[in-house]
Amino acid sequence: MRMQGKSVIVTGGASGIGLASVERCLEEGASVVIADLEESGGAQRAAALDGQHAGRCLFQACDVTATDQVDRLFEETVNALGRVDAVFNNAGIGGVTPSDEVADEEFLRIIDINLNGVFRVARAALRVMLPQGSGSIVNCASILGVFGQSQTAAYTAAKGGVVNMTRSLAIEAAPKGVRVNAIGPGYIDTPLLEALDDDMLQGLIGLHPLGRLGRSEEIANAFLFLASDEASFVTGANLMVDGGFTAGKS
Ligand code: NDP
Repeated sequence: MRMQGKSVIVTGGASGIGLASVERCLEEGASVVIADLEESGGAQRAAALDGQHAGRCLFQACDVTATDQVDRLFEETVNALGRVDAVFNNAGIGGVTPSDEVADEEFLRIIDINLNGVFRVARAALRVMLPQGSGSIVNCASILGVFGQSQTAAYTAAKGGVVNMTRSLAIEAAPKGVRVNAIGPGYIDTPLLEALDDDMLQGLIGLHPLGRLGRSEEIANAFLFLASDEASFVTGANLMVDGGFTAGKS
């Protein structure tokens, strides 16, 4: 059991990569809080998983764009579990619109969830972990944190910001025993991709040398590694889990 007795928060934990990460952490012995929007179905998923895993799964409604909700998430978790050992800063949304057509509202919303939200959660995590003298924060970036892509200016700006913010937070938190890393997923088969049409999807698959989309469990396994003591000398890293996407062209 690689996470026995650990207390873990997963934002965006009701769906896709987040849900797979919740399930892997539960299998490895952790107590896990699914933090997601009220309407995400997270409460029902947490109740079902709680039944399967001896009362170790909780739900806390949390919109990462609201500082008070993020701070309450950490207060409630400490009240319930006593501490926070690992956080997967995973909540995020997509967005594909020609840049000359993007409205302020859309651009700012993507930045507010995918970049500002990651900072709000990391800040609240540090307020618990620095006094503890231990903890692991894992930020979900993307291949689009290190690569550009047409019609995704807000998304790529946010994910690029997450990659470099991770390095700054890692340096700042390291002297107090807290590690901060990022994961850079390639295209992963989750509800986030539902908006893409079939031709676009086939084109994207072709960009991964391994010749397929990734699976949520494959990102969950990377989170598990970075969250656990197995990664005790890893901080400030951006671990690409992308089927070779960023390795180069064949
Ligand atoms: P999903 O849409 O399956 O899951 C995202 C979850 O985040 C959903 O439960 C969603 O709730 C929740 N969420 C959205 N907005 C907020 C918010 N403001 N506060 C709290 N929770 C919120 O997507 P994925 O699992 O694919 O994505 C997870 C992460 O992985 C994201 O950061 C994404 O950018 C990143 N990623 C995904 C890739 C992919 O190909 N799938 C590739 C690279 C990175 P609801 O469903 O109710 O909106």
